[in-house]
Amino acid sequence: MPETVLFLAHTEAGGTLGRLALEALAAAKSLGGPLLAGLIGGDVQSAADSIANCGASRILGVAGEAFAESRYATDAAAAEAIVKAAQAAIVVAPQTSRFARCLAGVAHRVGGRIDTHVTAIAEGPRITRWYYRQRMEAVLERAQRPWIILVDGGAATAWEDQEGTATFEPVPVEVASRTLVIGRQSPRAEQQTIRPDAKLLFVAGAGWTRKQADGKPHIDAAARLILGFLKGSEASLGSSKSLVDLSGEGQAVLPFLSHMNQVGQTGSTPRHPKGLATCCHGEEPHVVGWRFIRERRAVNLDANCGWARGKADVVYVADAFAVMERVNALLAGRA
Ligand SMILES: Cc1cc2nc3c(=O)[nH]c(=O)nc-3n(C[C@H](O)[C@H](O)[C@H](O)COP(=O)(O)OP(=O)(O)OC[C@H]3O[C@@H](n4cnc5c(N)ncnc54)[C@H](O)[C@@H]3O)c2cc1C
Repeated sequence: MPETVLFLAHTEAGGTLGRLALEALAAAKSLGGPLLAGLIGGDVQSAADSIANCGASRILGVAGEAFAESRYATDAAAAEAIVKAAQAAIVVAPQTSRFARCLAGVAHRVGGRIDTHVTAIAEGPRITRWYYRQRMEAVLERAQRPWIILVDGGAATAWEDQEGTATFEPVPVEVASRTLVIGRQSPRAEQQTIRPDAKLLFVAGAGWTRKQADGKPHIDAAARLILGFLKGSEASLGSSKSLVDLSGEGQAVLPFLSHMNQVGQTGSTPRHPKGLATCCHGEEPHVVGWRFIRERRAVNLDANCGWARGKADVVYVADAFAVMERVNALLAGRA
């Protein structure tokens, strides 16, 4: 008999559920057990309505001004109250930064266990996650309950159905926090080059800063082409390690890149459906970060680069400066 599953989520700005939450809902449903839902937010009614037809027998909610913002004390108290009220053996939640901060503490408070960055979930339940920088994949089961499982983006196809009208059961929580949220600071949207929800990952390699056919580097042109493409396509910007390391060596660099953009063994493992690598050699320590990118293309002058050795679906042997100039012109024409 499958165990009872609680799908736990918090609302995003505007009171809706994000894509990661809907993916976690699909993962929770795939376990096949009796389903409950728990929602946290300033106002959870529209989120409850959006999942009215998901098959949950109860929707529990912690709502109020204090729960509108991400804050450890209030989020942990809300999640703890919902988990205790639901009495479910399994709790499936999205791996958002908001939940990553507080749910380990909740697992401790309810005497359970937590696993984070889960990339697949199967009946049992049995979860899959990676260890040691994506080099080892493990499949785990646990005896301890409740078991909180944070599901990474891309692990399931987001649940989708018609909205309905839901009545949620308010769960009382005593608000006690000394932390006051006085505002939010984040880079302006156009400066934000890392966009986890983008359909495309655009990777810039060190070739953009190398001497070109005329014997000179063309950093300004490289910056204009890369930023122009990001603006026109709304892609997310990734980088090779060599490119972001250049700043430490005092060489001319692309100022909008930092180690946060680095993809690979010692960088990130993004999950965009498609990827385009430019001026990047496609060496294994870089390409290992492309593990979850399903469609891969690369532009490289070198027909013998790493991408051409089975690591990309399509390799354009061409000058990336010329290719991206043309692509940007096409994108501008579309607008
Ligand atoms: C322990 C370890 C961990 C590492 N971790 C990472 C990691 O996390 N991420 C990572 O990226 N690397 C990592 N590396 C480094 C990795 O092995 C490579 O050195 C690095 O990825 C190379 O970067 P690159 O391809 O941008 O530069 P290069 O190797 O210099 O390649 C530049 C490419 O640009 C092409 N090019 C130049 N001009 C043009 C043009 N006009 N048009 C088209 N193509 C052009 C060239 O043909 C060349 O292929 C790691 C290495 C080690 C040892």
